[in-house]
Amino acid sequence: MQDSMTYSGSLTIDLKALEDNYRLLQSVAVQNCAIAGVIKANAYGLGAIQVFDRLITIGCPQFFVATLDEALALRDHHHNANIAVLGGLFTGAENTYAAHNITPVLNTPQDIQTWAAMAKSVQRKLPAFIHFDTGMNRLGLSADEAKALIDDQSILEGIDVQAIMSHFACADDHTHALTQSQADQFAAISAHFPTIKKSLANSSGLFLDKAYHYDMARPGYALYGGNPTPHLNNPMKPVAHLKTRVLQIRVCKKGESIGYGASYGFDKDTRTATVALGYADGFLRSHSSYPHKPNAKLFFEDTPCDVIGRVSMDLVTVDISHIPQLKQGDWLEVLGFNQGVDDLAETSGTIGYEILTSLGARYKRAYI
Ligand SMILES: *Cc1c(COP(=O)(O)O)cnc(C)c1O
Repeated sequence: MQDSMTYSGSLTIDLKALEDNYRLLQSVAVQNCAIAGVIKANAYGLGAIQVFDRLITIGCPQFFVATLDEALALRDHHHNANIAVLGGLFTGAENTYAAHNITPVLNTPQDIQTWAAMAKSVQRKLPAFIHFDTGMNRLGLSADEAKALIDDQSILEGIDVQAIMSHFACADDHTHALTQSQADQFAAISAHFPTIKKSLANSSGLFLDKAYHYDMARPGYALYGGNPTPHLNNPMKPVAHLKTRVLQIRVCKKGESIGYGASYGFDKDTRTATVALGYADGFLRSHSSYPHKPNAKLFFEDTPCDVIGRVSMDLVTVDISHIPQLKQGDWLEVLGFNQGVDDLAETSGTIGYEILTSLGARYKRAYI
């Protein structure tokens, strides 16, 4: 049996495009602004180890993941890389951080105390980032906690602060006023830590204002081809190329319906293709067709085909009335040059981040 016969979905991850995206971000950043790689959630679904390896090869100086487990998996793979965990330091984990040379992002006064105590007990300085909340209200020291730290910085003793950081809530909306307010608060906090490095911008933040760049930016999404400038054309190259096969072609008759719930009815005879792609593959059920919702699309070469009816677990159906040459076994593009992650997300009220991190396990994955 040919290898190509064993799978029906093919996900190719273009590490050269990832590399080009990294370099583009470097060229956008002010001089002396390091570009870290955010590779949490399995590098946004694309494969943390492969992405990590490639970014190390091209000199990426710092990595961020969400959880300690994610960091440990990377540490097993590479002994020297700088790996930081955004999710903070829950009590009891500090020994593991220190033993494996993983850097915590300290989000609370308790995190700072725990890590300072750990440094004391091992009698060496331990690295950490310190996260200040500036309006996201998710993680990081509150304004009051920040003030207490500023007034008494002695509690940082023993901690080798890699950078102080904050995170934008609305950087993808270039008109949103919260971004500048967050940047102002961050600048005010920064003034109290003149000798410590600073990090503020995510992917979109890098494209907004050079004043947000500081010493280190923390892009994730743009590395993977997501558009950091949603109001403008996407400057990034697509990294995920996903295609899947046509399993069956049929002509549905006027008056019939298609799929679960019989939710889509035909007002004329219609040629359709049933494709090997479903919500179990991360093709979201919200890509189903609904009245008054834009249709999600798959592409045959560069011709779009509308998704019709419900997305089911393993299957989706598309209207191919306009492509008479399409036949069973042909491949349709889900993500790639015709349709980026932002384009697919937009049809279904979600964001490209969710499209990427939902990518399923059944695809034949290849790295080029
Ligand atoms: C996820 C994350 C990033 C990366 O954001 P993108 O929008 O993907 O560039 C940066 N910083 C923090 C704190 C994050 O949680």
